[in-house]
Amino acid sequence: MSDFDVIVAGAGPAGLAAACLLALDGRRVALVAKEQGDASDPRTVALMQPSIRLLMHLGIWPGRLKEATQPLRKLRLVDDTGSLFKAPAITFDPAELGEEAFGWNFPLGLLIPALLSRARELGVEFTGADAAAIQIYSDGVSVITASGDRLGGRVAIAADGKNSVLREAAGIRTNRWAYDQTAIATSFGHSGPHDGISTEYHKGAGPFTTVPMPGNRSALVWMERPARAAELMALPDAEFAAEVQIGTHGELGRVSDIGPRRLFPMQGLVARDFAKNRVILIGEAAHVVPPIGAQGLNMSLRDAAQAADLMEGEEDPGNAALLSAYDALRRRDVQPRQQVIDLMNRSLLSGFMAMETGRAAGLMLLSQFGPLRRAVMKYGLAPSAGLPRTMRPPQGSAPALIA
Ligand SMILES: Cc1cc2nc3c(=O)[nH]c(=O)nc-3n(C[C@H](O)[C@H](O)[C@H](O)COP(=O)(O)OP(=O)(O)OC[C@H]3O[C@@H](n4cnc5c(N)ncnc54)[C@H](O)[C@@H]3O)c2cc1C
Repeated sequence: MSDFDVIVAGAGPAGLAAACLLALDGRRVALVAKEQGDASDPRTVALMQPSIRLLMHLGIWPGRLKEATQPLRKLRLVDDTGSLFKAPAITFDPAELGEEAFGWNFPLGLLIPALLSRARELGVEFTGADAAAIQIYSDGVSVITASGDRLGGRVAIAADGKNSVLREAAGIRTNRWAYDQTAIATSFGHSGPHDGISTEYHKGAGPFTTVPMPGNRSALVWMERPARAAELMALPDAEFAAEVQIGTHGELGRVSDIGPRRLFPMQGLVARDFAKNRVILIGEAAHVVPPIGAQGLNMSLRDAAQAADLMEGEEDPGNAALLSAYDALRRRDVQPRQQVIDLMNRSLLSGFMAMETGRAAGLMLLSQFGPLRRAVMKYGLAPSAGLPRTMRPPQGSAPALIA
């Protein structure tokens, strides 16, 4: 008999969420990971309403996390490319969909510990060592940790990030590519209010995105060419603040109090199979996208919730039919989003007049045409059909998430 029903590898937000969900469903879950999440990560993640419902289901929202998060009341796209064909600024307002907020912006450094302590409460067993190898049998898996322990389970969930060991061991190949961009993630204080608005300034080297945090503070994801990003990283805080001031056109007032900065080289990755040989891929083990439109972790949480949905009531949670259903369902959600994000990003980097004109025309259409704008907003929030059960609004009631 297996020790566990499910073995999750990786204690990032996707793996922790999956472990919590499955433990809540009464599964025996092991979490194979050396470090228990990176609580010093300077990133914030904008989580949309379906992801918030998942956190409610897990019992960690609203709670203490809510005080450290900020509702996203509007999203603004500003064409800041300096191109000849400048598109008008577009504001996406959730009121057009009857909602008060798109979602909330969470510091990852707080979300990860909250998930971690919930996983402990729910009885998830932590190994304290990374996954080193996996052996796959017809009726289960055996995961070997870096410290030499061996854990038996019916299925493994690979949440061990973009260089996933489990994915490799399961023989799943990937398509991966690099962008000529690096993102600087940080945060900053400002003298003016942000009014809950996140602004994506589309510049020639990629988006420069401010995302509101509580008080007069915003997170920043600044995509730049790698050499320029390295120069910016080397600047003293005061000089970096002056660059942010220029980047925001002073729209948030005087910029100060720069938080820790970290570089993220921009890559894209998609697994050729999302599940195979008793291994299910979730999060960045399955797909990596540049941080445009706040899609990455929202998709990853849908992966976790979808896997839990399919496993519900299954005697063998790693059976072949379940894995093939997971593959089809997740591919349908992830691949078109990845293509839209890729196109949007490349249209900024290309420098080709035709591409720039096409992007400007598309943004113009969005700003003028309400039904198209609403359709894009709905799509950005979640897939139109097939949302996993723990992410759906309660039946027959409009979700009022602002407590
Ligand atoms: C600058 C930036 C801003 C972003 N903003 C947003 C946003 O606003 N909204 C949004 O939805 N998404 C956003 N994203 C995307 C989001 O951060 C990622 O989708 C998310 O962090 C992926 O989580 P994960 O758990 O899949 O991977 P990771 O966070 O990479 O976690 C993987 C974990 O696996 C561990 N690991 C590695 N190897 C092994 C092994 N062999 N065994 C066990 N464990 C292992 C690692 O140590 C790590 O803890 C952003 C990304 C970036 C770069």
